[in-house]
Amino acid sequence: MIYLDNNATTPLDPVALEAMLPFFKQQFANPGSVTHQAGRQVAEDVQLAIARIANSIGAEADELVITSGATESNNLALQGVMHHPRNKRRKIVSVATEHKAILDPLKRLAQQGFEVELLTVQIQNGSGIFGQVEIDRLADAIDDSTALVSVMLANNEIGVIQPLLEISKLCRQHACWLHTDATQAVGQIEVNVDDLGVDLLSFSAHKFYGPKGVGGLFVRRRERPVRMQGQILGGGQQNNWRSGTLNSAGIVGMQAALQNTLSHLDEDRARVARLRNRLFARLSELPQIFLNGPPLQAEHRLSGNLNCCFYPLEGQSLMLHTPELAISSGSACTSASPEPSHVLRAIGLTEDQARSSLRLGIGRFNTDDEVELAADMLVSTARRFLDASQTGG
Ligand code: PMP
Repeated sequence: MIYLDNNATTPLDPVALEAMLPFFKQQFANPGSVTHQAGRQVAEDVQLAIARIANSIGAEADELVITSGATESNNLALQGVMHHPRNKRRKIVSVATEHKAILDPLKRLAQQGFEVELLTVQIQNGSGIFGQVEIDRLADAIDDSTALVSVMLANNEIGVIQPLLEISKLCRQHACWLHTDATQAVGQIEVNVDDLGVDLLSFSAHKFYGPKGVGGLFVRRRERPVRMQGQILGGGQQNNWRSGTLNSAGIVGMQAALQNTLSHLDEDRARVARLRNRLFARLSELPQIFLNGPPLQAEHRLSGNLNCCFYPLEGQSLMLHTPELAISSGSACTSASPEPSHVLRAIGLTEDQARSSLRLGIGRFNTDDEVELAADMLVSTARRFLDASQTGG
């Protein structure tokens, strides 16, 4: 199998696995058990890992809530801010191309009576940056009734990076908070909460070679502290923002994975971009293929992300006939849904074009040979289909 679905998840870094193993064995004590040395030792290791993760995104340890991953972080950010009893503002502004882990909680908030405004993005073949939110429209949408703006940092399907700093300036003018779903960005690009000007930021460890089922939510506590109400109640862990026994192994593994990823970020980015560009150059042997999302050289596109349209060929059929390739037709979380990608539709593709598109995500563990082989398989399968359709077969 050739794994080219690194936007869905990444393989576990062996360094992270090694770091986790003691926490499944001798260091099994509950980090909340301060009554004995075994618990205190685990608590110390976990706190150190949390502080390091926080510092690597420019935050303090007490500003990081550990969750089960970005889905929970997003839910906590949106529900937690809007339901805080001292937040009187009723409006949230977000974008049509967000992940379902934003769109579905927003739907729930709308049902609960909050005002939700979803903005469109710049369409493909328009004059702007494909997939980026239109700042003028955002400026019109944010007003003094807006409590929260939520815009993802990098898109999971087309890799477009949003202009968070500009958005943050608008939020500050109206004294509303800015949340970003940075799940696809942490471990892929430099992420610093102050440089981005964000107040809340979600991420998942398994997108940067850490374990699944653990992630975090940065919640600003210093300048302009965020008012957020915990959603999971119980033992009062993590300042009551998220009760439940901390996932010690997961947290330590997440830290080890993040540290290793960030320690060679620049060289990995350059290598992954080279492989991704090579893959697209090979796929361009097919005359009708086109790229979805921003140009590959653009600085506002994730370096490992490729998404292309094989119209008139169907993405699903191409995948069925290349079973050795692990690729996808969109987000893993919606891959069971028959609907064409809402992200591709939002950048202006027709339903048919969206159904003809595939996402290929290159990661740190992919090799030159894998990319060549993947291209061979896709090109020859596509050619067979095209020839068959021309001969009426
Ligand atoms: N947001 C984005 C942008 C994502 O890509 C994902 C994972 N597909 C999530 C949120 C959800 O992450 P998790 O499944 O780890 O909760």
